Amino acid sequence: MLSHYSELREALLFTYAEMIRRGLNQGTAGNVSVRCPQIDRFLVTPSGMPLDVMTPDAMVLMDTQGEVIGEGKPSSEWRFHRDILAARPDVGAVVHTHSVAATALACLRQGIPAFHYMVAVAGGADIRCAPYALFGTQELSNAALEALENRKACLMANHGLIALEVTTRPGP
Ligand SMILES: [Zn+2]
Repeated sequence: MLSHYSELREALLFTYAEMIRRGLNQGTAGNVSVRCPQIDRFLVTPSGMPLDVMTPDAMVLMDTQGEVIGEGKPSSEWRFHRDILAARPDVGAVVHTHSVAATALACLRQGIPAFHYMVAVAGGADIRCAPYALFGTQELSNAALEALENRKACLMANHGLIALEVTTRPGP
């Protein structure tokens, strides 16, 4: 079971390591998920595991019902990864960090207005800030999902940010 999706497992580990290398993560705070070829399954980084002991097989396979397939303990923030991937078939991957700059902005509990053209990269005229809710809760996930409507990124008040990899599909 654990050897399934080996390329995705390696890509997820690589992305997580890059987040640390680039200074976007503090300790074991950030987490990443990626959708599997089966649209109702995804891999998410494990809970509280330092990078130096993390292996591709440590990535936790889950379904969009929130059940772990096989073994492992998913990131405590698996809920919003699951909910985003379930609600947004256009999304292939979800990145969450407590990066210093974004978290400083999120502590202002305000979205980012269109003060720079790169704001549009997130998919609209602004980047919203989801209202505060405790980490790991359904309430936080609901707030994030709302803030991400028609967007590829959002802040989460007094917490951090979420960024999405959005697959551009040809129109109907
Ligand atoms: Zn977090």
